[in-house]
This record gives sequence, C-alpha cells and structure tokens, in this order.
Amino acid sequence: MIPAHFEYERAGSVEQAVELLAENHEARLLAGGHSLIPLLRLRFARPALLVDIGRLDELRYVREAGDRIAIGALTRHAELAGDPLLARSCPLVPEAARGIGDAQVRHRGTIGGSVAHGDPASDLGTILLTLDADLVARGPAGERSIAATDFFTGPFETVLERGEVLTEIRLPRVERGAYLKHVRRGQDWATVGAAAARLDGRVQVGLASMGSTPLRAHAVEQALGEGASPADAAEHAAEGAEPPSDVSGSREYRAHLARVLVRRALERM
Ligand code: FAD
Repeated sequence: MIPAHFEYERAGSVEQAVELLAENHEARLLAGGHSLIPLLRLRFARPALLVDIGRLDELRYVREAGDRIAIGALTRHAELAGDPLLARSCPLVPEAARGIGDAQVRHRGTIGGSVAHGDPASDLGTILLTLDADLVARGPAGERSIAATDFFTGPFETVLERGEVLTEIRLPRVERGAYLKHVRRGQDWATVGAAAARLDGRVQVGLASMGSTPLRAHAVEQALGEGASPADAAEHAAEGAEPPSDVSGSREYRAHLARVLVRRALERM
C-alpha cells in the first residue's frame, strides 16, 4: 500500500529534531525506517511529519564511558556486529546483531530504532534488559536516563514520550555472555530468543518473544543464585511468562523453546 500523506524534514542535529517534534505533535522520528516504513505503508501509522534523524552521525558510535560502554542510538546493526570494543567487552551484542534480518536490514536498522519500536521480539531490546542497560533520552525538558527494566511497558510501547529522542545506550561490561534464538526460517524474527550474561559474579537471563515485552527470566536467575545447575535452572525459564500462540509457534512450543535455549545459552557461557 501507499502511505498516507506526510511532510518530511531532515534534522541537522538532535536539538533540531527535538524542536521539530515539539512544534508538531503528530510528528514521528525516522531512523533506519525498517520498522516504521512498513507501518506507514500499512497505514497503521499516519504521522503528519516525519523527522529524519538517520544521517545524524553524532549519534553513531561505540565508545568507552568509564566502567560502561556507550552506544549512540543511530549505530546500525552491522556496525554493532563488527565492533571490536563490543566483541571484547559485551560479546552478546555483536552476536545478536549478526543474526538480525538480512544484510539490508543490518545496514539500515539502528539500535535506537530497534528498542524505541518496543517489539517484544527485539533481539537487542532483550539484551539491554538482560544487562540492566541505561537508555538516555533528550526532550524539551532536557535529558533523562531510563533503566531498561522500566523502559518497555507493553507490546510496541515504551516510556519514551512523543517529543523525546533516544540518544544513547549505556551497557556494563560482561564477563561472559551468549544470545541464542530459534527462527522458523533463516532471517526470521525470533520465535524465542534467550540471552544470558555473567556480570559482577551473577548470571542474568532474558527472553524475547515470550510475552508482551522483552522479559527477564527471574526464576532462572534465582535458581542459579541458589546453586542450581544450568540444566535445572533452565527448567524455570517459562515461569511467569505469557508467550503468544501464532503462526511461528504455540504457547506450549515457545515455553519448551525457552527452556532449551536458556539451558544452551547458560552452557555456552
Ligand atoms: P525506524 O523504523 O526508523 O523506527 C522505528 C520506531 O522507533 C519509530 O516509531 C520511530 O519513530 C522510533 N525511533 C527510531 N529512532 C528513534 C530514536 N533515536 N529515538 C526515539 N524514537 C526513535 N529486529 C530484530 O530484533 N530481529 C530480527 O531478526 C529482525 N528482523 C527483521 C527483518 C526484516 C525484514 C525487517 C524489515 C526488520 C527486522 N528487524 C529485526 C527490525 C530491525 O531491527 C529494525 O531496524 C528496527 O526494529 C527498527 O530500527 P530502525 O532504525 O529501522 O527504526
């Protein structure tokens, strides 16, 4: 289908993007366009104005920031996949980025767009939640930092407000980590994804496509903390989750996949 009519402005800076959003409450940011453009074509989204931030190179970087790693919101999946700092300090991010879509998606899609879109199947959203990342947003009232645990509020919903631009993601260094996903066909979204990471001596586990948002597998984390083996702890992977039943798999199948993938991710670490 053809999108409904919209105006288009290319922002030259984050400040200009914030101003354009403040001037038009029906405006929407455009980054890589790989989630928004399909929504426009289906007319699920009908913004009056698209504010294109896709060429803001000031938001494309991966760098050290004290004891954290800072990633600019417009960093593309392909850049995450090949980044040497992430490969050393947070290897599950490049591992997940390499498995997102096809080469075209990875060269256009951005980490900021991926998490702002709020898809419960987002690979990177699941990893940010697993790692207790912080997300930095700039809006008319200034800058604020949001904990990943507070960020996702429902299917395709986040705490970001209309006038805010997500600018940076801050991750801890992990000692070890793994991200595994099961797909029905190559390049599909995860039927289920499982992230596991060891940081500060404890193991944190997250799941994609197991509920209305990316989830933490708290029951697995607790079992590991009490000394359970990876295989025994992984049996708790679907506890508290409400996975959907759809063309990719039933609720029961997803619960089974979660147990298998969490066990494998824990064993791989
Ligand atoms: P856009 O489409 O430009 O924007 C998405 C939403 O986020 C819009 O609402 C926009 O307004 C908002 N937004 C964008 N940037 C910001 C910002 N900085 N601040 C605030 N709001 C912002 N993803 C996976 O995780 N795993 C997959 O396997 C996968 N496979 C895919 C396969 C295909 C064929 C396609 C088309 C996409 C796939 N994706 C997958 C999604 C891909 O990762 C998208 O690139 C991503 O979801 C959106 O990023 P984007 O930069 O394209 O955002």
